[in-house]
Amino acid sequence: MGGEVSSLTLKSLLASISLTLMKLYAGILSGSLSVIAEFLHSALDSLTTLVTFLTVRLSMRPPDVTHPYGHRKIDSLGGLMGAVFLIITMAWVIFEALRRMINPPEIDVGILPISVMLISILVDFERSRALSRASKATGSRALEADSLHFSSDMITSLVVILGLLFVRMGLKLLDPLMGIVISLLFLRSAIRISRDALYDLTDRIDPWIMDSVRRACLSNPEVLEVQRVRARKVGNFLFADVRLRVVGSPRDLGERIAETLRRELGMDVDIVVERVEGETLEERVRRLSKGVEGVLDVHAITVSDSRGG
Ligand SMILES: [Zn+2]
Repeated sequence: MGGEVSSLTLKSLLASISLTLMKLYAGILSGSLSVIAEFLHSALDSLTTLVTFLTVRLSMRPPDVTHPYGHRKIDSLGGLMGAVFLIITMAWVIFEALRRMINPPEIDVGILPISVMLISILVDFERSRALSRASKATGSRALEADSLHFSSDMITSLVVILGLLFVRMGLKLLDPLMGIVISLLFLRSAIRISRDALYDLTDRIDPWIMDSVRRACLSNPEVLEVQRVRARKVGNFLFADVRLRVVGSPRDLGERIAETLRRELGMDVDIVVERVEGETLEERVRRLSKGVEGVLDVHAITVSDSRGG
């Protein structure tokens, strides 16, 4: 499956590069800002695909002496870089759009830019379908994200085509306006991507994940108390370490907790369990009496020490 995914990524990269060149040509020829914005977008898509192609290899390397938690954060770093490029590019498009509104340049929308955008939609339709199939087969979030990306790109391309048709009908101001609309759409996803990447890079974790870890620990009857939980998430991987007060010496406790979390969170889980042995005498009486039929709970336990008596 790894080879198939590689060849799919490579095909997608070639498609992005071809679209970039076509949009560059159509953008220069027509002078339309929305087509130029689309050219920049495809150029960034090519760059991002290339970065992903390289970082996936790096980030999948097993843990080593200098990176005992593995190399998955390289993936977040790649995502952050791509998002920052996107933010800078789209900021330029907005700036250029405002300049063009004040001082409108000559634009000539022929049949070429419209056909290029139609080709773009067909290419995105085809690859988002292939990526979606591959993501279902492998369970990869990265492929799923790619598939979603290209299907939302289809909508943007459609918006551009509509804008170009209106420009042809004489509504020239719509071209820079469309440029701004496209930029805002891409800015929104760039901000979301960089936020998630920054969360990963700074070890931020959602409180509900911490609660899930606590609950998964307590779902084992041998666990009396969760004394400490620490967890960090990198991509779809959860590293957690917990200190638990347990009864006796339960077997495979860590593995059982990890299994519960894997099912509940849908993530890969690596958990380290530190055990603190022991229970108070009162807890012991309570626990043992639960096994006695008819006894629901025990109240008012008094402990008298009879040693030396
Ligand atoms: Zn895109």
